[in-house]
Amino acid sequence: MLKLYNTLTRKIEPFNPIKPPRVGMYSCGPTVYDFQHIGNLRTYTNTDILKRVLSLNGYDVFQVMNITDVGHLTSNEDTGEDKMEKGARREGKSVWEIAKFYTEDFFDSLKKLNIKPANVISRATDHIKEMIDLIRALELKGYTYRIGDGVYFDTSRLRDYGKLARLDTKGLKAGARIEVVAGKKHPTDFALWKFSEADSHRQMEWDSPWGKGFPGWHIECSAMSLKYLGNTFENNNFHGERSRTIDVHSGGVDHIPVHHTNEIAQSEVATGKPFAKYWVHFAHLLVSGQKMSKSLGNFYTKDDIENRGFDLLDLRYLYLNTHYRSTMNFTWKSITGAKRALGRLKQKIANYKLETLNSKFEKKKKMSKNDYQNRFITAINTDLNIPEALAVTWEMVDDSKVTNSDKLNMILEFDKVFGLGLGEKIHKEKTIPQEIMILVKKREDLRAQKEWAKSDEVRIKIENKGYVVEDTESGTKVKSVKT
Ligand code: AMP
Ligand code: ZN
Repeated sequence: MLKLYNTLTRKIEPFNPIKPPRVGMYSCGPTVYDFQHIGNLRTYTNTDILKRVLSLNGYDVFQVMNITDVGHLTSNEDTGEDKMEKGARREGKSVWEIAKFYTEDFFDSLKKLNIKPANVISRATDHIKEMIDLIRALELKGYTYRIGDGVYFDTSRLRDYGKLARLDTKGLKAGARIEVVAGKKHPTDFALWKFSEADSHRQMEWDSPWGKGFPGWHIECSAMSLKYLGNTFENNNFHGERSRTIDVHSGGVDHIPVHHTNEIAQSEVATGKPFAKYWVHFAHLLVSGQKMSKSLGNFYTKDDIENRGFDLLDLRYLYLNTHYRSTMNFTWKSITGAKRALGRLKQKIANYKLETLNSKFEKKKKMSKNDYQNRFITAINTDLNIPEALAVTWEMVDDSKVTNSDKLNMILEFDKVFGLGLGEKIHKEKTIPQEIMILVKKREDLRAQKEWAKSDEVRIKIENKGYVVEDTESGTKVKSVKT
């Protein structure tokens, strides 16, 4: 039985979706004004792990992820500039061009990290009508007010506003925050629709019943999750009785006090139903003990990782070593360790595969396969304890009582959750590229000189280029690892 920590209740709870085996899942996606950093990528990897664990438990997951390409301001308090417009100015390009560029870059990161794409990936700018309809529904119910710079949600109308973050709304005073919009009635009220300023030209703006402008950041996630996972919007009204609560909503922990709190407010007023049953939040990646963030400038991107000779799957392996609810401090030393460990695991698998191909190597051994399988399942189902699942895997690899074919089968099964691409097939290739043969020769020479550490480094290089070496009595054999 899968158990997950639910931010809403602050408890680890048995996972019971509303209509099993279906699981409706909404995951907040990137704001595409710049490259995503490896902190953001940690969150998407953890989202992927959650999805894989749900699938392994037999659930039929339908995931929606948004792409924020409008409305996310530089400040959470409805002041500041639209990050997209600012990014476009920085690069001297149109907002649409940078949105396209960074969205593609984001997809490339997902692919390299073996992250399974969501069933629906929806851009905010493709859903302006749905957002306007939703704001209209909130307006008809009397939850909005209009001031000089936009239409706002009146959070004081909602008794349980802030329940996700357990906000002390009474304790919050308007002056307590640094910047406050003139006319905003309560500090927690937030923009649903912002007006274009008369004296400055925005690249992205739309007509609305309230005037020309653009949507607030939070409304996109409510509108898109209701559209793809709730499906009950008709004639400017949400039909509560037919609305569906989504099963899982996920995102980084920074979303708890503002973004997700406001998504809940909008959606629950519109539908009269709980918005999401389970809220899963991922802890941050740190660098030198501080949150990795664009604004602090202490971030690395996937290009930094690759330019230093690492593969994004080394990064994925590194992520797997820390539980999703714990912060993780990134260092180059730690990713070097991860690369080495993943290389070792790949080498083991390559050997198992070769032995399994020549099954004469197999001897009957006492089976303890089920122990490991059970421990693995218990680990992943206990609030996604992936570090423990990884420890179980290594223990199994080092256990001489388990046959190599059982080891291979188990690792490939476990990799459905790890997502390290370990299931790639080995097949003989007629020609091995010259650069590989040079490395193989170099490794042989180093081995002859008993330079084991250096020869291991060369082996890892060979593996990273998609080849495995096998030392046999008749010399070293090289094979390509391909899907
Ligand atoms: P953004 O592109 O800023 O909207 O962020 C995309 C996702 O990354 C959100 O779910 C954030 O919560 C998450 N995120 C931001 N910074 C970090 C970090 N340092 N570590 C992990 N996740 C983060
Ligand atoms: Zn969101």
